[in-house]
Amino acid sequence: MRIKVLGCSGGVGPGLRTTSLLVDDEILIDAGTGVGDLSLAQQRRISHVFLSHSHLDHVCGLAFMADNLFDLIDRPIAVHATRQTLEAVRQHVFNWTIWPDFSKLPNEEQPLLRFSEIEVGAPTDLGGDRRLTAFKVLHTVPAVGYALESPRGTFAFSGDTWANDDIWAFLNGLPRLDKLMIEIAFPDEQVELGAASRHFTPSLLASELRKLKHHPELFLTHHKPGCEQLIEKQCRTALKDWRYHHLQRGDLITS
Ligand SMILES: [Zn+2]
Ligand SMILES: [Zn+2]
Repeated sequence: MRIKVLGCSGGVGPGLRTTSLLVDDEILIDAGTGVGDLSLAQQRRISHVFLSHSHLDHVCGLAFMADNLFDLIDRPIAVHATRQTLEAVRQHVFNWTIWPDFSKLPNEEQPLLRFSEIEVGAPTDLGGDRRLTAFKVLHTVPAVGYALESPRGTFAFSGDTWANDDIWAFLNGLPRLDKLMIEIAFPDEQVELGAASRHFTPSLLASELRKLKHHPELFLTHHKPGCEQLIEKQCRTALKDWRYHHLQRGDLITS
């Protein structure tokens, strides 16, 4: 699998985009502002979108992409998420007030967006020996991460999360885990803000990782703009036993 990082920042700014991953040119995992860097031709190739949770930094690109593609494609884009996330996005974004309901446009029989509920722990076959499974994480709203498995390796994406045992129980149950994209939003000084907003800090992530029996390559993401250097400095100590990268927009992960 070829996973292109369209965005992985905790906010926006020059060169910074929020979370969105493009898998094999046809699947989006989350649809943050990074989607805005795709050409129209690239957007037209998207057939599936998997959302981790309902926060704006992970879904806003879907609204603009739907508007772009409205009269350019004649098949629906499947938008997959848990029931709670779908309800939130439908009630609060595609509600005719914030944005048109593209699950009813151009008509209800052949809509642009087709919302599709996923079940945590139930694998989805993506074709081509690829499968994707949502796993429960802990955030301020119902949220999941995704594991992408192929015969060549397993990549997991935490989405936004904080310390909890469910994530490690799921990941430990995988036969292998080669690469893990996981968030660190704040530096250690903001551990209380992290607890309140359910985001990791470097030291907390390091202590949680002791629960993981696999030893994947780590891809660190969702750093708050302005905190990147401090987070990087703290990771040099906290994660010294791990092979890790601070993910950047445009990076390519193969799995
Ligand atoms: Zn969030
Ligand atoms: Zn986020």
